[in-house]
Amino acid sequence: MSVIMATATSLAVGSIRSRRSTSGVTRFKMAVRSSSISVAVAPMLTKLQQDCATPLPVLRSVADSMSADMRAGLAVDGGSDLKMILSYVDSLPTGDEKGLFYALDLGGTNFRVLKVQLGGKDERVISTESEQLSIPQELMSATSEELFDFIASVLENFAQKGGNFNLPPGRKGEIGFTFSFPVKQTSIDSGILIKWTKGFAVSGTAGKDVVACLNEAMDRKGIDMRVSALVNDAVATLAGARYWDDDVMVAVILGTGTNACYVERMDAIPKLQGDFSPSRRTIVNLEWGAFRKGLPLTVFDRDMDAASINPGEQIFEKTISGMYLGEIARRALMYMAEEGSLFGKSVPEKLSLPFVLRTPDLSAMQQDTTDDLQTVGSVLYDVAGVESDLNSRKIVLEVCNTFVKRAGRLAGAGIVGILQKIEEDTKGAIFGKRTVVAMDGGLYERYSQYRRYLKEAVAELIVPETSRNIVIEHSKDGSGIGAALLAATNSKYERNL
Ligand code: ADP
Ligand code: MG
Repeated sequence: MSVIMATATSLAVGSIRSRRSTSGVTRFKMAVRSSSISVAVAPMLTKLQQDCATPLPVLRSVADSMSADMRAGLAVDGGSDLKMILSYVDSLPTGDEKGLFYALDLGGTNFRVLKVQLGGKDERVISTESEQLSIPQELMSATSEELFDFIASVLENFAQKGGNFNLPPGRKGEIGFTFSFPVKQTSIDSGILIKWTKGFAVSGTAGKDVVACLNEAMDRKGIDMRVSALVNDAVATLAGARYWDDDVMVAVILGTGTNACYVERMDAIPKLQGDFSPSRRTIVNLEWGAFRKGLPLTVFDRDMDAASINPGEQIFEKTISGMYLGEIARRALMYMAEEGSLFGKSVPEKLSLPFVLRTPDLSAMQQDTTDDLQTVGSVLYDVAGVESDLNSRKIVLEVCNTFVKRAGRLAGAGIVGILQKIEEDTKGAIFGKRTVVAMDGGLYERYSQYRRYLKEAVAELIVPETSRNIVIEHSKDGSGIGAALLAATNSKYERNL
C-alpha cells in the first residue's frame, strides 16, 4: 500500500510568535494562518484514514481469525502465530492466602518490586509496599548478567527496608516473578525465554531459564529468597483481578507492549496430553502480540517494522501497543512534512529522530481543549522542534486519532475473538452471564480515547443483550498483587501462615 504522493506547492507558512508561559511551557500564538497547507496534505490524510479504517467487517474478521488462531495454537505447538503458552497456573487465588510475599514485575518500560501481607478471607490484603523504577536504557541492550544483577540489587535494597512486614523465622521470602516477555513455561517456577520483544536486545538470555538467571544473580548477591511462581503480566493481572471477582475470565495488557490470557478448560487443550476432568482449568497465555491476520496496515507500519530489531515479528503489538503508536504517527507526520509541507517549507530536523514522539505525547495532544490547540503546539515544539499553525495542529490531531482509533478498535476485536472462542466451546458460559475482562497497562490506563475506541468496537461486535454481560474493567496494579498471590498459591511451604 502506498500513500498518495502529493506535490508540495509553495506554501505561505504562518509566522509564529513564541512566548514563554508562566508555567515554563512554550506556547505559540498564530499571526498568519496558512490555508494552503491542508490543500497538499488533505489527500494524504484521506488515504491514511482509508488505509487504517476498521469497519465492522474488518473487526469481525480480526475477531474470527483470533479465535481460529487460538484453536490452532491449542491443537499443537507451532500450529499458529499464537503460541498459546500453558502458564502452569491451575489454581487461582481463593482469598485464603496468608503471609508475606514479594513480587517483581519486569515490564517493557518499568520495573516494580512489591511486598504484600495477605491476611486470608477476612483481612485480605493487609498492607502493600512497592517501588517503581524506569528500566535504565543501557540495560535493555546489556548482558543477561547485568540485567539480572540490576533486578537482584533493587530487590535486595527493597527487602531490607523492613516496614511493617515480617517473615516467620526459618522461612525464606517467596517471590512471584512477573516477566512480560514470551517465555516457554516448563513449570510454575521455571521457563525459557523465547525471545526479547519491545526493543530489548539483552544478550545471552534467549534459550535460558529466566528463573535460573534470577537465582544466579541473587546467589551472587547472597540474597536468600526463592521464586515460587514465574508468570506473565497478563497472567498475573488475571490472578490479581480474580482474587476480588470470580467472574474474571480474560486479562489484557496494553502498556509498552500487549498480551492477553484467559481461563481455559484443560480438556479443550489438545496439545496438553493427559486425562483431565472437564472441570479442571488452567490459564493460557496467548502471546497475542504475534497475531497478524487481516490487520489494516500502512506503509508507515511496514517501514517501522523493517527498521525494528525484530522485523516481521509482533505485528499486532506493533499496531496496537504503547511503544509504537507515537513512532507510527511520527513517520506519517514526517511524510506529510516532506511531501506535503505540513509544517512549512523546511522539515524540522528533530522530527526525523526515530521514537522522538511518544505515545504519551499523542495522548497529551488529544486531551487539548483549547481553541487554538495550544497543547498540541507546545508538545510539537518541545518534543520535535516543530513550529505549527492551527491548520497543521488539526491535521496532527487527525493523524494521532487515526492510529489510536485503529489500535483501540483492533484491541477490542481481539478481546471479542477470545470471548467468542470460549463461548463456542461452552455455550452460554461467557455471553449468558456476567463475564469480566480485566485490563491493565499504562496505555489503557492513561489514554481515554484508546479506551473509548476499544469499548466501542467490543459493543459493535457483540449483540446488545449480550454486551451488557461483558464488563471491561481496569484492574489497577493487579499484576503486582497477582504475582504475589500466585507465589502464595504455589508456596513451597506446606501451609500458608
Ligand atoms: P510496562 O509496559 O513497562 O509494564 P506500563 O504498563 O506502565 O509499563 O506501560 C507503560 C507504557 O504505557 C508506556 O510505554 C507508554 O507507551 C504508555 N503510556 C504511559 N503513559 C501514557 C499516557 N499518558 N498516555 C498514553 N500512553 C501512555
Ligand atoms: Mg507491565
